[in-house]
Amino acid sequence: MNELQEEYNPQQRVDEAKKLEPEFWKHKKLEDLSKAEWEALCDGCGKCCLNKIEIKGKVSFTRVRCRFLDCQSCLCKVYENRFEAMNDCRDIDLAAVREQPRWLPKTCAYWLLDNGYDLPNWHPLITGQAQSVVDAGMSLQNRELISETKVDDYENYIVDWQDL
Ligand code: SF4
Ligand code: SF4
Repeated sequence: MNELQEEYNPQQRVDEAKKLEPEFWKHKKLEDLSKAEWEALCDGCGKCCLNKIEIKGKVSFTRVRCRFLDCQSCLCKVYENRFEAMNDCRDIDLAAVREQPRWLPKTCAYWLLDNGYDLPNWHPLITGQAQSVVDAGMSLQNRELISETKVDDYENYIVDWQDL
């Protein structure tokens, strides 16, 4: 997840990514990316910030969101301090991308590239627009989410969305 700061919006992040080497993801391995390139790959969908539960080796996503996820922008409200703010917030690094069972959504750019797929045509690095993720129905925006502060039993909130 990427950062939410005052006067910072998803399009600003996409515009900054336009300064990077064109189509860097096509000829560089994930392990060779710069920090800026790695960050630019995140499509900002927010889906990694849903709570998951693992039952018998299978990860199920729920529609219970992290308390720090901004539902409108799908950005983290505490990105710079997220590991202090949320003790089970996971860094999205190579180990996370390759972890089994998979707990990142199958639309996640890191997971796609690491598994031999190209970026989808709605990805901001392809379209130049943060909004394309929302328009394609791939972000959490406009979904019926509930904050983790309001639920006890995550099992009642398991979802089977196609893009998870
Ligand atoms: S699931 Fe992947 S692409 Fe989507 S916000 Fe998380 S890290 Fe970024
Ligand atoms: S603190 Fe919550 S919203 Fe922020 S990145 Fe971590 S899981 Fe996502």
